[in-house]
Amino acid sequence: MKRRSATSAARRFIATTSQNAGRDVAIIGGGIGGLTAALAFARGGANVTVYEQAAALKEVGAGLQITPNGARALNALGIDKALAATGIDAKAVAPMDALSGRQIARFDLSDQTPPYRFFHRAVLIDILARGCAAAKVTVRLGARIVDLQADGSFSIGGVRVRPDLTIGADGLHSVVRSHINKPAEPFFTGQVAWRAMISAEAAEPIGRIWMAPGRHMVTYPLQEGRLNIVAVQERSAWAAEGWHHDDDPGHLRQVFADCGREVREILGAIESVSLWGLFRHPVAQNWHVRSTAILGDAAHPTLPFLAQGANLAIEDAYVLARCCDEAASVEAALKAYQGLRRARVVRAIEAANSNARNYHLSGAARMVAHTGLRAMGAVAPGAFLNRLRWLYDHDVTG
Ligand SMILES: Cc1cc2nc3c(=O)[nH]c(=O)nc-3n(C[C@H](O)[C@H](O)[C@H](O)COP(=O)(O)OP(=O)(O)OC[C@H]3O[C@@H](n4cnc5c(N)ncnc54)[C@H](O)[C@@H]3O)c2cc1C
Repeated sequence: MKRRSATSAARRFIATTSQNAGRDVAIIGGGIGGLTAALAFARGGANVTVYEQAAALKEVGAGLQITPNGARALNALGIDKALAATGIDAKAVAPMDALSGRQIARFDLSDQTPPYRFFHRAVLIDILARGCAAAKVTVRLGARIVDLQADGSFSIGGVRVRPDLTIGADGLHSVVRSHINKPAEPFFTGQVAWRAMISAEAAEPIGRIWMAPGRHMVTYPLQEGRLNIVAVQERSAWAAEGWHHDDDPGHLRQVFADCGREVREILGAIESVSLWGLFRHPVAQNWHVRSTAILGDAAHPTLPFLAQGANLAIEDAYVLARCCDEAASVEAALKAYQGLRRARVVRAIEAANSNARNYHLSGAARMVAHTGLRAMGAVAPGAFLNRLRWLYDHDVTG
């Protein structure tokens, strides 16, 4: 498929804008989804203010995989050069047998357009924040919004704000989602994830998925000689949701103690680790009401087994801005936005859920799965990515 250059796509985004010009847009939450939305609306001429509860725009010290579908939207917003300068282009993904330490197969990623890349989260936030500043987005820090009204208005610092459009990009425990949906209880999946980073010699840029019965670990390199680690274990003991819970690295090492030397060496180098209880949240029924909409984790928290939570948030942000630019009214735009996004998001979430099962197989099922992967790697390596074409080839800028 022929792709437009990122710069021409950015120009096109600006050139086709009309309805967003001069519109007052309030975005609650300055994470990856909120800042992408801010940039997309500002490029269309809107007056955008981001309200972020934290004292600074920041992210946890961890990596993030930006797949071609997310990259396409980011590039079209004109930050393609900064992304190319700071991301690591992934060459391949390799399923590994964590017990023996052997590579099962290797699937090429080097021909992806735009490239599949590994980023440090803080670097991506910084690029988005600089893009927003250049596009004259106002960012208000230390601004936690709690009293959203039916008309999308809210107060901050004793002043009532009445935007034309209010966007909830306020993540997992979204205030805006609860305003437009009935409460929906998440449930603990019986899985926990650890996140850590270590210094490592410059490694080949491949994502490795180390699989063992009831657990797996994903590793990939980041800039400045670091290796990002996310390890997942099935277990009944509950753990809280969110990255602010530290754990003893010894617990993680213990879980993978029967694995091959390389896995043990990687885990042996960890000095600090956070633990996250993985919960399933239903996809929100309503993504909008009147002039208020939600996006990203606020609408559809996603388990991390397909590396799509941030990519979907980026896609949402782009599509929302585009719909608002093109539709005659905000209400019509928000309806179109949900119509364009919900089925795709549900499909991605279901695919992520089934990956969790596939990575953790044991006994005969594990042997059969590894044999299948090995055969695919030897005979039809393209088949692996072909199964993900619907995900990676999706072009929200088209
Ligand atoms: C282990 C793990 C690995 C992952 N790896 C990947 C990956 O490789 N690729 C990928 O695409 N996704 C990945 N994800 C998912 C991804 O991190 C999230 O889906 C993504 O960050 C969601 O972005 P967001 O902007 O919707 O929400 P968030 O990043 O949560 O941002 C929400 C923001 O809103 C602010 N906020 C909240 N409430 C308020 C309020 N009331 N007022 C003002 N501000 C508020 C918060 O402070 C925060 O800054 C991973 C997730 C996990 C757990």
